[in-house]
Amino acid sequence: MLALQMAANSSPPPILSIIDMSNTLSEVQQAHAHMLKTGLIHTTFAASRIVAFAATVSDAQTIAHARSVFDRIATPNSYTWNTIIRAYANSADPENAILLFHQMLHSDVLPDKFTYPFILKACSRLHGFEEGRQIHATSVKTGVDSDIFVQNTLIHMYASLGHTRHAYCLFDRMSERDVISWNAILSAFVARGLMEQARRLFDQMPDRNVESWNFVISGYVDLGLIDDAQSLFDGMPTRDVVSWNAMITGYVHAGRFREALELFGIMQNAEVRPDNCTFVNLLSACARIGALSQGEWIHTYINKNEIQIDGFLATALVDMYSKCGSIEKALRVFRDTSKKDISTWNSMIAGLSTHGYGECALRLFSEMLMDEFAPNEITFISILSACSHAGLLHEGRRVFELMTEVHGIQPTVEHYGCMVDLLGRAGLLNEAQGLVSAFPCKDSPVVWESLLAACRSHGNIELAEHVAGQLLELNPQDNACYVQLSNIYESAGRWDDVREVREKMRKEGVRKEPGCSMIDVDGIVHEFSAGDRSHPQADEIYRKVDEMKTRIRSIGYVPDTSQVLFEIGEDEKESALLWHSEKLAIAFGLLNSGEDMTIRIIKNLKMCGDCHSAIKLISRAYGREIVVRDKNRFHHFKNGCCSCNDYW
Ligand code: ZN
Ligand code: ZN
Repeated sequence: MLALQMAANSSPPPILSIIDMSNTLSEVQQAHAHMLKTGLIHTTFAASRIVAFAATVSDAQTIAHARSVFDRIATPNSYTWNTIIRAYANSADPENAILLFHQMLHSDVLPDKFTYPFILKACSRLHGFEEGRQIHATSVKTGVDSDIFVQNTLIHMYASLGHTRHAYCLFDRMSERDVISWNAILSAFVARGLMEQARRLFDQMPDRNVESWNFVISGYVDLGLIDDAQSLFDGMPTRDVVSWNAMITGYVHAGRFREALELFGIMQNAEVRPDNCTFVNLLSACARIGALSQGEWIHTYINKNEIQIDGFLATALVDMYSKCGSIEKALRVFRDTSKKDISTWNSMIAGLSTHGYGECALRLFSEMLMDEFAPNEITFISILSACSHAGLLHEGRRVFELMTEVHGIQPTVEHYGCMVDLLGRAGLLNEAQGLVSAFPCKDSPVVWESLLAACRSHGNIELAEHVAGQLLELNPQDNACYVQLSNIYESAGRWDDVREVREKMRKEGVRKEPGCSMIDVDGIVHEFSAGDRSHPQADEIYRKVDEMKTRIRSIGYVPDTSQVLFEIGEDEKESALLWHSEKLAIAFGLLNSGEDMTIRIIKNLKMCGDCHSAIKLISRAYGREIVVRDKNRFHHFKNGCCSCNDYW
C-alpha cells in the first residue's frame, strides 16, 4: 500500500494512464477492477481519475459509476469534489451538483474558485435564481467572491437567469474588470434586446475582443437592425466566422438575399473559413431568389473543400435545388447523403410535392417509413399537398387517415387546408365544406382560402360568397380574397357584382401585393415587376414581349382579359397582361440565355390564368423549357403543356 502511494506521488502507475486514454465506460470499469485488485483504488489520487473520466462524458451511467467511486473516497480533495460537481452540472440532473455542493460545505475542504463556475452553471440550467443567490452569499462568506473569475461567472449566471439588474449591480461594484467581465454584462443586455444600453457599454469598453463585437452585432441582427450591425461590422479590426455568419444570417432574415450572397464574396477574400452555418444560410438565400447557379457554385465549393455534409447542410442543399427548380439535382444530393435526418426527408418530399410529382412523393414516403424514420406533422403537410397538387384523391384520403390512426398525429389547420384543397379540386365541394364546418378552429383563413379557390375553379358562386364573407370577417384587408371573388363574378359575367367588390376594396383601402418575378442568368438574379421599365435592357425586353405575342397568337393565344382587375379598355387590358412580371422575365431569359437552356422564373404570387396559358404556348413557339415557381408550386412548361395539367 505504502509502496503504491509512493509510486503515485512520484510517477503515475501505468493503469492510470490507461484511464486517461479510455473512451468508454467499460474500459474505465476494467481499469477500476484492476485497481480494486491491487488496492490502488484506496488512493485519492487514483480514484480521482475515475471520477474525472465521468466529468468529460456526463452520461448517467458513467456518472453513477463515478459517484460510487467518489462516495468511497475517505477524504476527497477539492479537485475531486470539483470534478464530480462538474460532471453533475453538465448532466441530465444538475440538482445533484447542488446537493453535493452543500455536502462539500460541511466537509474538510471548502469550495474554491474553480467550484463556482460549475455550481453556478448548474443553477442556470435549473433556472434556480434562489439557489444561485444562496451560493453567491456563500462565496461572500468564504471570501472567494473577490476573485474576478468567480465574479464573472456570477454575472453570467444572473444574466442567463434573466436578472440583468443583479448582474449589472455586481458588474458595477467590481474593483477590477477584465474583458470577460465586460463581455458577460454586454451579452446580458444583448440577450434582453436592450441594445442602447449594450451599445453604451460597448463604447465604454477599454479593450474589446472579437466576441465583444460579435455580441453587439448579433444583438442588432436579432432585432432586424441590419444597417447598425453592418456599420459596426465594417469597423471591426478582425472578424471571425461568427461575425460573418451573424451578418449573413441577418441579411437572409431581413429578406435581403442578394446582399447576403454578396457578403459571402467579400468573406472569401477575407480568408475566413466558412462553416456549415454559413452555407446553410447562403443556400437558403439562393433558394429564396432562385439563384441556381450561385447555389451550384456553393455546392461545388463545399465538395472541393471537403466540408462534411451533415443533416442540416444536406437539407439546405435539397431545399435549394428543389426551390430553384432543379428537382433532379435535389434527388441526387438526397440519394448521396448518408446523414439524412427527418428534415432532409421532409425537404425532399416537399420538393417533389411542389414540382407535382405526387406519386414519387408517396413512394419516398413509404421508403422513409421502411427506413424507420417517424414522420412528423410537416411530413404529412408535404404528403397531403403532394396528393392535392397531383390530384391523387384516393391516396390523400388514405394518408389523412393514416396520420391520426397509425402515427397518432392530430391534424392541424394546414392538414385540413390540404384536405379541403384535395377535395375541392376533385369537385367534392360539399364534402370539403363539411370538413371545414367540422374543423375546430374556424378562425384560421387557410382552410377557407382553399375552399374559395375550389369554388372558383368549379364556378360555385353561392358557396364562394359565403366563404368570402367568412374570410373578410377575419381580415377585411384580405386582398387575395377580393381578387378571387371579383374573378369569380367576372367569369360569370356578373359585372354589377364585380363593380361592387372593387368599390369595397377601394373603401377598405385594400392594396394588391405587387407581383414580382426573378430570373437567374449567368449567376446574376434579375428582378422584374409588372410594367417595369427600370431594367437597362428594357427597350429590348419590351420588343421581345411584342414578338412573343405575335408568335403565340399565330398558334392560338387569346388573351384572357378577365384576369385584369381594373376598368380599362380591352387594348390596355391586353398590354397590362403582357407586362405581367413573369412575361417580362421570360423575354429577358430568351434574350440572354443559350438556346438549349431552361428558363427558370421565381414568382412571388400565384400565376394568373393568362400567364399560364401564354407560357405554355411560349414554350412551344420557342422550343424552350420554362420552369416557373409561383407562390404554391412549380410549373414545368414544355412543348405547349404544363406539368400541373392546368390544375393549380
Ligand atoms: Zn399573369
Ligand atoms: Zn402549370
